Amino acid sequence: MRKTKQNKYRPDLNVKSTLYVKLHSRISGVRFQFINDKHNLDGTLAVDLSKYIGKLDEKELDLVGAAALLVVAGLFIPSSIVIQWDSNAARCIEFSKILEILYNVRAYCAKIPIFFPSVTIQSSNNKKETGLTKIVSDSCFSSRSTIFSHIVLFSGGIDSTYSMLRLLKEGYKPLALFLGANSDTRELEWEASRRIASKLGVELLRYDFEIKGFPKKGADPDIWPQFGQFPYYNSIPHGRDILSAAIASIITRRMNIRFIAFGQEKESREKTIFYRGRKILRHDIESREGSKILNSWLNRCLGYDFNLFSPIESFSIEEIRLDMINRYPDLLSMTQSCFWERLCCKCVKCISLYLMQRVTGNEIVKFPINPLADPTNLDLADAVDSDIPDNEIGYGVQIRRGIQKIIEKRTYTEQDYWILRAIEKPFPPNYISPKAKRIAYASSPRS
Ligand SMILES: [Zn+2]
Repeated sequence: MRKTKQNKYRPDLNVKSTLYVKLHSRISGVRFQFINDKHNLDGTLAVDLSKYIGKLDEKELDLVGAAALLVVAGLFIPSSIVIQWDSNAARCIEFSKILEILYNVRAYCAKIPIFFPSVTIQSSNNKKETGLTKIVSDSCFSSRSTIFSHIVLFSGGIDSTYSMLRLLKEGYKPLALFLGANSDTRELEWEASRRIASKLGVELLRYDFEIKGFPKKGADPDIWPQFGQFPYYNSIPHGRDILSAAIASIITRRMNIRFIAFGQEKESREKTIFYRGRKILRHDIESREGSKILNSWLNRCLGYDFNLFSPIESFSIEEIRLDMINRYPDLLSMTQSCFWERLCCKCVKCISLYLMQRVTGNEIVKFPINPLADPTNLDLADAVDSDIPDNEIGYGVQIRRGIQKIIEKRTYTEQDYWILRAIEKPFPPNYISPKAKRIAYASSPRS
């Protein structure tokens, strides 16, 4: 990679990009076009909430369009963005702040200098020139919903189930909103959500969002070489929570609800890293600071006040899993906790749950194969490699602690390849270094 001296915040990427966003208000959808020298992405985001709230109004369409733009722009990392759109949502000051937070993390992941793209917003006509951030005040304090206290973003996974449990325990009346984004496991997640909501006696809404034209594999191979690569990088769109938050906030506004609950645990809310002299919020808008900015943007766009928050932000990934195993085994067995299928036994979600079950000696979710017996698993390789820092491992320190606890309790067996590796037993004869495997995995398609 060649260094650029003129502007230290520019990545050394030969990319010239222009992002056009157009709204099709008649069919309640967003069309976007992204062109640079490598790609011509022409996609749509279908937005149909008519089943629940009827047609979207102009403010709501603007917001969904801007959210889609943030997700796509964050994925490509263009050096400049020109938005041709009469949207107030894109003119809010927070829009650029969110983009900056996303870009910092992308730069860190791609190991390129931290930079911020130039953002220009052009009007295509003058009939809707309302200046910067016109806030429309709805009368929202006097007529709050008395039916539901919260909307909970619900995926049928462990964290959203635990969030729901916390709210119910405190006597609230939450409504579960299922937003299907991961096309690989959408139906599995929906089935899990239905079972859990029914068990808890919670009302459940479903809305799928599909970004047609959104690349499945790395959008820009220089930036996301492993995007959508089984089992390490799933194909859930990065920044998906921005879209979830936009859609949830529209429903929240229409239903006159006060709170939107995300299942973001302690690590997501608090994890920061120092990269090239700057503090980065590792989980961008999931972090406490990022979420505040997102909240403020959503309030400005919709002219309605509500709060994004996480009922489980004081609990770590480990604490949540241990509590589910010990106190809610029936609910845990109903959850869907894998990025790829029912249980791939390879992804960090599978590893994380498997390790906690091994630590407690309770196999509530039955794993068909032992993930610790798989010598090709790179997340486990990284977890036992002292040269790899915690934040480079999926689910980081939690996986390391699980391995350590099994070693302390001496509950390992001859099948636990990565535990034996961690306590420096001789490698099996077919051992290949993790680095060699990483290269092999990155270049081979998922079987
Ligand atoms: Zn899995």
